Amino acid sequence: MASVIPSAGRVEVGDGCHAWLASRAGWGMSNAGLVVGRGASLLVDTLYDLRLTAEMLDALAPVTAAAPIETVVNTHGNGDHWFGNQLVAQAEIVAARGSLADMRQVGPAEMRQLTVAPGLTGRFARRIFGAFDYAGIEPVLPGRVFDGELGLDVGGTEVRLIDVGPAHSAGDTIVHVPRDRVVYTGDIVFAGATPVVWHGPFANWLAACDLLLGLDADTIVPGHGPVTTKKAVRDIRDYLEYVHEQATARFTAGMPVMDAAHDIRLGRFADLDESERLAVNVHTVYRELDPSLPPLDGPGLFGRMAQLACSHPGF
Ligand SMILES: [Zn+2]
Repeated sequence: MASVIPSAGRVEVGDGCHAWLASRAGWGMSNAGLVVGRGASLLVDTLYDLRLTAEMLDALAPVTAAAPIETVVNTHGNGDHWFGNQLVAQAEIVAARGSLADMRQVGPAEMRQLTVAPGLTGRFARRIFGAFDYAGIEPVLPGRVFDGELGLDVGGTEVRLIDVGPAHSAGDTIVHVPRDRVVYTGDIVFAGATPVVWHGPFANWLAACDLLLGLDADTIVPGHGPVTTKKAVRDIRDYLEYVHEQATARFTAGMPVMDAAHDIRLGRFADLDESERLAVNVHTVYRELDPSLPPLDGPGLFGRMAQLACSHPGF
């Protein structure tokens, strides 16, 4: 399960590019990024609660004092990438159109509800999210929305936003800084953890991996896990292809969706953290193959993952 990340806090990944790395792995422990230009900075994502976000902003203050954060990009609409927005509300907050839709659907109130859900679902939610404090979070949504691609000038530094979703979520922005050959991927890349396909289709995520592999970049700042390289992108691609193939075979054989999630052997991917995300991923494949299958809400999705997690020793 969750392990300590050897390098946490602010890490320089280029001339003016920084990563903010979570202190440990696990659900909700997301990374962020900072691109510093002349007299202005761009922040990639805020964190899951106000305490974590304030701690990050304090640690970045020596850098942002001379280059204030004028722009914030939320890579997508999962709370661990935007619940801290109220602490940077003076900046222009930008996101892809699909991300805004996700934020409107699931905010801090829904997460608080999930953690008090009855039974196994609530127990699982408290176990993975219990360390976060959703109290006092006012949802501050992006004031600027884009479709496709958006180019920004951050104090003379070119920054490209590309929406590669819907894939992980309804909108997934990657942030490319060509001069430094750095790309902040949001949750299109999990390093050392299992990717979760909340939205799909899988084909879009595979295409996003191909786009990343084709970019002139050699430093990948993932949404979760340590700073990495294109190898992590290839690993994600391999996992997604494998799970899609395995789930499709079981769908075709008429196996019920949760039976398929229990039945699939993850092989070389079995050691990735949060392997219970397989339950969501298989459900997403089944929905692609049978669009009449109804979507699951938050408690439905976390309930399925809880079932899978508790079938493993140590839960
Ligand atoms: Zn995340």
